[in-house]
Amino acid sequence: MTRELKEVQGIIFKRQKYKEADLLAKIMTKENGIITLVVKGALRPKSKLGAATLNFSYGDYVIYTSGHGLSNLRTYKEVRQFDGLYNDLTKNAYASFILDLIDHAFVEYQPLGRYYDLADFALKKINDGVDAEMITQIVQMQLLSAYGVEPQLRQCVICGRQKGIFDYSIKLGGVICSDHFRTENSRLHLKPKETAILRTIGLLPIQRLGNISINEETKKATRKAIDRIYRQTIDLNLKTKKFLDELKFF
Ligand SMILES: [Zn+2]
Repeated sequence: MTRELKEVQGIIFKRQKYKEADLLAKIMTKENGIITLVVKGALRPKSKLGAATLNFSYGDYVIYTSGHGLSNLRTYKEVRQFDGLYNDLTKNAYASFILDLIDHAFVEYQPLGRYYDLADFALKKINDGVDAEMITQIVQMQLLSAYGVEPQLRQCVICGRQKGIFDYSIKLGGVICSDHFRTENSRLHLKPKETAILRTIGLLPIQRLGNISINEETKKATRKAIDRIYRQTIDLNLKTKKFLDELKFF
């Protein structure tokens, strides 16, 4: 396959040492998917490429690529950084988990489409100080479809009812209405308000979800439910998630 120079727009999110002073950095782009870049000499002091590929940097990068395997970073234009994410341990942990989660849902170079917008939206919000826990829950609910396990949130999975009181069933893959509460024993026994939040954050376009505010108790319950949904349908075991959970004990 031929190699070509290409300009891509994206967010840098994972770095690891490569050969000598070189670095491997992952970039998340919309049209070209997730790409691992070799950044030559990035670990040398004063390296401009190194500075442009710090975690949570974003902008236009010029890469030399064949569309598979490793690509090379050649230069960059107008790179900025979400410095709120870079400097704050908690925000950093949430953002790293979100990007990790998206990373695992796609193979390299697979276009991300609206999931790129979801990542971009989430990072901007967390960077600006919006409730990171809530933003993360939104991303998790919306990302289930990228993993091929999109839940039925619009209507009861059994009878199709769209309005009323609902609970969630992982086994049935979505919400069930109160008509089946007595007979359906796979349900999570969430409070109606908690299921309503899962539906809202899973269904609404992200642009309309910016200012959602929920009390701590409800947020904890939806967190637990989402963790269960992920554990029982995808089972990822991500280090970034473990770290985030540990961080909450402090
Ligand atoms: Zn029903």
